[in-house]
Amino acid sequence: MKLVIAKSAGFCFGVKRAMDIAMEAAKKYPKDLHTLGPLIHNPQAVAFLEGLGVKAKDRIEHIPRGTVIFRSHGVSSKDLKKAGEKGLRIIDATCPIVKRAQLFAKYLYRHGYALLIVGEAQHPEVEAICSYIQERVDVVEDVEAAKTLGPWEKLGIIAQTTQSINLFRGVVAVCLERAKELRIFNTICRATTNHQMEAVEIAKKVDCMIVVGGHNSGNTQRLTAICKDIQPHTHHIETAQELHPRWLAKKEKIGLIAGASTPSWIIKEVELQVQNLKKP
Ligand code: SF4
Repeated sequence: MKLVIAKSAGFCFGVKRAMDIAMEAAKKYPKDLHTLGPLIHNPQAVAFLEGLGVKAKDRIEHIPRGTVIFRSHGVSSKDLKKAGEKGLRIIDATCPIVKRAQLFAKYLYRHGYALLIVGEAQHPEVEAICSYIQERVDVVEDVEAAKTLGPWEKLGIIAQTTQSINLFRGVVAVCLERAKELRIFNTICRATTNHQMEAVEIAKKVDCMIVVGGHNSGNTQRLTAICKDIQPHTHHIETAQELHPRWLAKKEKIGLIAGASTPSWIIKEVELQVQNLKKP
């Protein structure tokens, strides 16, 4: 049996940075330390932080005092304001690449463009970006939705940083015909693109693909969908315990990739579990 492990598996730069910031904060501010929402979309990593005293709270209203860490997805203008009004100590772990997408959105808005975001309207990163734009903003999750919008005099397009480049291309192609003036900022994170490209390359070569990451992680779900398009024997698991021996039976080449918020210790456990299950 050959196990092919993606080089890009696991924490991306922004998630690693956010985890490091949170662990550092836990040493500095051991009391009343919170994150607004789970720091990353991985229950095991969130439980690890909880063990260090970092409590995840869903709303600013639930944080009476102390310190709040804003996660890599960024924070809405409303929550930023509320945290300031409450006098909370703010530690901003927004990924610089997400910040860049926010800046482009604000720039387009200030210059009179309608804004189209290719992404999930309910995703915290997209919600945060929208919160800084008062009007003329739409979010589309697929090409079909883009076809129902416009026409526009001036349109600016950006993407949620973890979107697939193919979807972005598809939406841009539709809008080319519906906007008199079009500005496009490719805000897709390079780590995401490389990650997805590596997933495609591995999925082509193996006869079973294991994708590791939180069931609540959008980028892990996208990786799974990308792999499944190429290799139908693709399985998304959160932990090694979820690995089914029958998935691996008679499979000689197994691929392993993990979402950007999957801790390395979980990837290692899955690797060991695959090797155990395939022992002759
Ligand atoms: S996927 Fe990219 S944009 Fe998102 S947190 Fe990671 S490095 Fe930042």
